Amino acid sequence: IEEDSKTKEELRLKYRFLDLRRPDLQRNLMVRSKVATTTRNFLAENGFLEIETPTLIKSSPEGARDYLVPSRVYPGSFYALPQSPQLFKQLLMVSGYDRYFQLARCYRDEDLRADRQPEFTQIDMELSFTDADEIIAIQEGFLKEVFKKIKGKEITTPFRRFSYDEAMERFGSDKPDTRFGMELHDISGLVINKGFNVFDKAVSEGGSVRGICVKGGSEKYSRKGIDRLTELAKDYGISGIAWIRYTEPIKSSIGKFYSNSDLEEIARAFNAEKGDLILLASGINKVVFDSLGFLRNHIAKEQDLIEERIDLLWVTDFPMFSLEDDGHKAMHHPFTSPKLNSLEDLKDPKKLKADAYDIVLNGNEIGGGSIRIHDKDVQKEIFKILGMDEEEIEAKFGFLLNAFSYGVPPHGGLAYGLDRLCMILAGASSIKDVIAFPK
Ligand code: ASP
Repeated sequence: IEEDSKTKEELRLKYRFLDLRRPDLQRNLMVRSKVATTTRNFLAENGFLEIETPTLIKSSPEGARDYLVPSRVYPGSFYALPQSPQLFKQLLMVSGYDRYFQLARCYRDEDLRADRQPEFTQIDMELSFTDADEIIAIQEGFLKEVFKKIKGKEITTPFRRFSYDEAMERFGSDKPDTRFGMELHDISGLVINKGFNVFDKAVSEGGSVRGICVKGGSEKYSRKGIDRLTELAKDYGISGIAWIRYTEPIKSSIGKFYSNSDLEEIARAFNAEKGDLILLASGINKVVFDSLGFLRNHIAKEQDLIEERIDLLWVTDFPMFSLEDDGHKAMHHPFTSPKLNSLEDLKDPKKLKADAYDIVLNGNEIGGGSIRIHDKDVQKEIFKILGMDEEEIEAKFGFLLNAFSYGVPPHGGLAYGLDRLCMILAGASSIKDVIAFPK
């Protein structure tokens, strides 16, 4: 917030009641209120019913830790606060309320970040007898309305769609900012078997060598500058960044292992021009994508490469699971439907894609959802892949499976992070600036 940026945040928060008198915060809260009104009107006009669900509940997991509330009446027992209304909205579909929405307060016990608070609000919705295309079309209509009402801007629909794989390979991120280039390139084939052990090892272990090309970067980034980028990228798991300055003569941190013509060939793969700087990362794909995805965004901000425009896109076809040290984890949540040709596909969890979609605005994930599993047996199999046995499934989710046995329509939905959406619409840099009393 520019108008008073010199005042320390702690002081501002202590005197929030005075801070809230400032015009920019007033404007932000007006934006927020207008988004809420627009949401209610749009969804009501489209046949959605606003229904409240409880907040003292049995756990409704979204992959974070629950907040717990002790029960006075049953000493030793606890309520969980909802990470989302997910299970309630699915039960409402079983009940026949075939278009539901709610502005729902949700709780996830995670660390604070500029775009994350432990307590936040979702625009949550669910519908029956539907598919991903219909849900996506409804959202495009909704966002069109929001941008018209709040920003006075016409946005064009449909939005572009990227598969998860394409988003990772081109932008190193599942929430790509496509307002600038600097796309990733896989140069594994060009650099192996030339005597550089680090790259050979990465590729032989199933990883890759990829990079980005910073236009005119040779001048902009000194040796120290590159060291600084490398230090920052280390947070994403990479141990080093190799570089090529495409200058006359070419200079490179891997010049010992690669001849001038090798380096020329790499530069060609990036369509590099004289003066560009190529940054390379190697290792397992996740680390390579995360590090380069970070560097791409970081450099674009630092060099002011980001175009001023509204960039809305969908990311689809997520993997169903990620494989962590302690087994499979649901990438979205355990109620997301896998894309199945037959039940046989469940035998190879690694290969399963989820019928899930995220909506991304200017490189921020502002919402996400999926088509849900509505087959009891498939749901059970997914719980088993996630490491639960029959007993645990029954104890945690028996009520859901039981409900499904009474007839459940095919259904799906999505939720937006209202705070994040408002932050971007208000042009704020933290969700704190669109929450009256933030943490
Ligand atoms: N419950 C999901 C979430 O909070 C959203 C959805 O799948 O509808 O991320």
